[in-house]
Amino acid sequence: MSFSARILDWYQQHKRALPWRETKNPYVIWLSEIILQQTRVEQGTPYFFRFVEEYPNVTKFAEAEEDNILRLWQGLGYYSRARNMHKAAKQVVDLYDGVFPTHYSTLLSLPGIGEYTAAAIASFSENHAHAVLDGNVFRVLSRYFGIEEPINSTIGKKLFSKLADELLDQHHPGEYNQAMMDFGALQCKPKNPDCSVCPLRVDCVAYANSLQAELPKKIKGKKSRDRYFHYFIIEQDGKVLMSQRPDGDVWTNLFEFPMLETANALSIEDLQISSEFYELFGNSTIYPIGGLQKHVLSHQNIYASFYRMDYSGVDLPKKNSWNYYLLGNLDKLAKHKLISSFIERHF
Ligand code: SF4
Repeated sequence: MSFSARILDWYQQHKRALPWRETKNPYVIWLSEIILQQTRVEQGTPYFFRFVEEYPNVTKFAEAEEDNILRLWQGLGYYSRARNMHKAAKQVVDLYDGVFPTHYSTLLSLPGIGEYTAAAIASFSENHAHAVLDGNVFRVLSRYFGIEEPINSTIGKKLFSKLADELLDQHHPGEYNQAMMDFGALQCKPKNPDCSVCPLRVDCVAYANSLQAELPKKIKGKKSRDRYFHYFIIEQDGKVLMSQRPDGDVWTNLFEFPMLETANALSIEDLQISSEFYELFGNSTIYPIGGLQKHVLSHQNIYASFYRMDYSGVDLPKKNSWNYYLLGNLDKLAKHKLISSFIERHF
């Protein structure tokens, strides 16, 4: 039996019943694919249902306020994905009269859609013959063929892409792509794949040479940068001061408490005598709440400290993005995880 026949055969017996597999609607497939990037299926599924219910078609999505999309997205992280979805939806409405495209090259021209997502939408919706290449597929190919080339090197990307195209079942590209992804997720798992029941075992290079733990290979990314954020909780008459994050940094446009970033970790005493603090808050007194929180993002480690501030007698700086919000209305603001978890714990 050929490689693809064995994968398809395995899929018939083991495929996952996922709600977005019930449809050929490219808009719904797009929603599911973007939501599930770097998110576990169990975590992403409720988001998928909420988005489909709130925005049943791409026109409704395009017409939505960005704040509402971000609020619905809250908890998934990688907020630029939600913003790109909004841009893409507007583009679909403006350029294609609200008809979601299914051609690979057109899909690639939309914000936030890369090769993987374009291949997934094109093949799942219309059976266009484009092979998907995600972490699951890389793993299966690398192990089965014993490929040592790193999956994120330039040569590796080309090599795996060519191989995936050659193996693609031209008659059932959509089903084959889903089968490869499930095979990687359920059978050829990252840790401890159960090779004893694998239909590829007889000629799998990794199995024959006990290389499962070594493959696939990956070049290590650049070192993460450490950042130190100090948040100040300033309340007045049942309201709390909130700030909206600027463009060009993490969490664009999301809400948080007024914040000072310092180049190094600072004790509360050092923070209070720093010129940056004095410039913003004069001689205000602050009291720590909770301990230091570490929040890991791709390429950044954020170390966050929270302080309650006694602001009386101080003219708070007039910053455009600072506004008071009723405590009861905080849940209407789109906030990043660090802030929403803090509010859950302390308000
Ligand atoms: S035999 Fe093991 S390593 Fe090889 S493809 Fe199957 S599960 Fe993966």
